[in-house]
Amino acid sequence: MSSIVAIVGRPNVGKSTFFNRLIQRREAIVDSVSGVTRDRHYGKTDWNGRNFSVIDTGGYVVGSDDIFEAEIDKQVELAIGESDAIIFMVDVEEGVTPMDEDVAQLLRKVNKPVLLAVNKVDNAKRLENAVEFYSLGLGEYYPIASTSGSGTGELLDALVEAL
Ligand code: GDP
Ligand code: MG
Repeated sequence: MSSIVAIVGRPNVGKSTFFNRLIQRREAIVDSVSGVTRDRHYGKTDWNGRNFSVIDTGGYVVGSDDIFEAEIDKQVELAIGESDAIIFMVDVEEGVTPMDEDVAQLLRKVNKPVLLAVNKVDNAKRLENAVEFYSLGLGEYYPIASTSGSGTGELLDALVEAL
């Protein structure tokens, strides 16, 4: 059975942009179970010859930008339960938010690989700013730009290595 990787994080950090980049040329399977906490997209992809499934959590329900912290927590807990590794995505443009700290607290207790992806690192200034995410207590992070693909190769190398 191929491994499952979940992408978690608060709304608007770029999870779906990254997911779509990963599964391009392949078809995403939309889970028929809907609702803010359950709605998610599944896709299959591969990297360095390794096949795995990806889950993009949240963001498919109209108005879900108003998602509450407790709902994010539920999504993260679901993701922890069903995946073999987790990509926790944050947004350097917004910096560390209380919701990021909340999710980080849940993920620090997890006994599965957690890769911290600092997204929207579009320029050198943002690369400098990304250091603030060390404060989440998750160790090393991967600066990426999901729109251009910059840095995503390094993240995926580390991910398949950890699977
Ligand atoms: P989600 O809610 O976490 O799934 O986030 P989305 O993938 O829907 O992206 C939210 C917004 O961030 C969209 O307008 C994206 O175009 C934008 N975005 C995603 N990745 C990047 C990036 O690397 N750089 C910049 N500047 N914007 C990005
Ligand atoms: Mg989304």
